[in-house]
Amino acid sequence: MENRIKQAIVDIVGTSNFTDSLIDLVSYSYDASDHEQRPDAAVWPAKTEDVSKILQVANTYHFPIIPRGAGTGLAGAVVPIHGGLILDMCRMNKILDIRIADRLVRVQPGVVYDDLQNALAPSGFCFPPDPASGSVCTLGGNVATNAGGIRGAKYGVTRDYVLSLVIVLPNGRILRTGTDCMKSSSGLDLTRLFVGSEGTLGVITEITLKIIPKPIASKTCQAFFADLQDAGQVVSDIMHSRIVPSVLEILEENAIQILRNHGGMKLPDARAMILVETDGYTKEEADFQMTEVINVLKKNRATRIQVAKSPREAEDLWRGRKALSSAAARLRPNNISEDVTVPISKVPDLLAGISRIARKHGLLFVIFGHAGDGNLHPKIMYDRNNPQQVQKISAAVGEIFHLTCNLGGTLTGEHGIGLAKAPFMLLEHSQTSLDLMSAIKNLVDPNNILNPGKMGLRTGAQ
Ligand SMILES: Cc1cc2nc3c(=O)[nH]c(=O)nc-3n(C[C@H](O)[C@H](O)[C@H](O)COP(=O)(O)OP(=O)(O)OC[C@H]3O[C@@H](n4cnc5c(N)ncnc54)[C@H](O)[C@@H]3O)c2cc1C
Repeated sequence: MENRIKQAIVDIVGTSNFTDSLIDLVSYSYDASDHEQRPDAAVWPAKTEDVSKILQVANTYHFPIIPRGAGTGLAGAVVPIHGGLILDMCRMNKILDIRIADRLVRVQPGVVYDDLQNALAPSGFCFPPDPASGSVCTLGGNVATNAGGIRGAKYGVTRDYVLSLVIVLPNGRILRTGTDCMKSSSGLDLTRLFVGSEGTLGVITEITLKIIPKPIASKTCQAFFADLQDAGQVVSDIMHSRIVPSVLEILEENAIQILRNHGGMKLPDARAMILVETDGYTKEEADFQMTEVINVLKKNRATRIQVAKSPREAEDLWRGRKALSSAAARLRPNNISEDVTVPISKVPDLLAGISRIARKHGLLFVIFGHAGDGNLHPKIMYDRNNPQQVQKISAAVGEIFHLTCNLGGTLTGEHGIGLAKAPFMLLEHSQTSLDLMSAIKNLVDPNNILNPGKMGLRTGAQ
């Protein structure tokens, strides 16, 4: 980075909030994906006005700015592919306001997901999306990727809870979108434009989120199936039953085998396992829904059904689902984890198709995911130093994306596009959609300084 640019940035944030030391730049060169590229420098801004001044400098000298949360993204969205300045938002981590009567909270973007949940706990309220990375990831990252979680089928995703945002635009202007009201029909929905925009349109410096009372009762059960089609039918029958479980997870046979052979769990030999949780504001509500679910499981020939009688037994049933990802990851040095999503009725087709593709390429894989909202996670283990395996992985991933889109699905249910899925955007979106997305990017960021090279957006200035 040129000295005059460095000086201009240091003048804004102070020396102690600027770094271009090698060790920091290496840390900022990757996220949780396979992508890697070193930035030129990084800063820790403390307030919206500092972000605004930094963006004005970036626009003058035309260097890239990459807003960063905790770097847990799985699509390379935060990797500075064209170098530039990392804006690490972790020090803007204050919970500004909790207003129970208005059912909202106002936070800075660097607040960690679990810290907000802990702050809300005494009032009995929660912010439901619940990503598995919640102990680390930031709310700014959640909004910028439209993060979701295991209870998405019943409680939705981040987008469903964002009421308003403060955003610094690439030219440094500060924009407040949305409203504190629970409903509004006023003007174009700019808030939604920025949710899921992966840091390409603006830097989020304040977030207002809707909150809900936390359900106080839940019931958990686990069931095994000798036939994948039966498990698929369970999902479909539960959807018809008018019950909306808070969790409806599916694991295929490879996942069950890995938990048995490498996770130390005593599980039966089965083609599929389903984990269901029902919840509510009374015990009767959760129990009533679980009775309906068990009827569906029995009707579809579940070979073993286990219902937790206590919170401790529920925790035991959750153990396999929670241990799976790390048990599988240990089998090879590297892995990729996708988040393809299809209409719920297509989940059995997607499961069977992914399994066929991975076997055809001789890859070690597991498939698990949120059958209740159509979101599956194929995780493929490999060795990055083995060129043959790398080639097979890349062919298999392309085929999985084709399959998903042919089933009417989407490339990503929760992780975002980033670098990883950018080449596949045309499988899902029409050229007209992509042209409009690129036109919006060009309008908001004509010098292409904000997180360039992401989401397959084409810009005049590269
Ligand atoms: C073990 C593990 C489990 C995971 N489980 C889930 C899961 O269940 N559900 C899920 O959805 N994801 C999951 N993820 C992915 C990841 O945690 C989410 O995408 C999360 O939302 C990223 O948050 P972050 O703070 O790490 O953001 P980062 O990775 O730092 O950034 C992600 C994107 O957000 C942008 N961004 C960050 N902050 C801002 C800001 N203030 N303004 C503008 N743009 C910004 C970045 O530029 C980048 O494009 C998981 C990841 C791991 C490693």
